[in-house]
Amino acid sequence: MSNELDAKAARERAKAIAEQRRAERRNRKRKCVVCGVEESDKTPLGAHPDGIGPSCKDELSCQARRAAASR
Ligand SMILES: [Zn+2]
Repeated sequence: MSNELDAKAARERAKAIAEQRRAERRNRKRKCVVCGVEESDKTPLGAHPDGIGPSCKDELSCQARRAAASR
């Protein structure tokens, strides 16, 4: 009987950990690989055409940010 309880507790614990990891992944901010801006409603990120990572969907403001950052 106690084995069943242990197995159930272990399952619950694994579920809680998986849930936590999912939440962390959701909360972690992605950054544009080109200009370094954090993903937000104002700066949505998409996949970079060269496959190097997430980059701004708005290419013009991305380039403007990059120019400003490298100045
Ligand atoms: Zn960018």
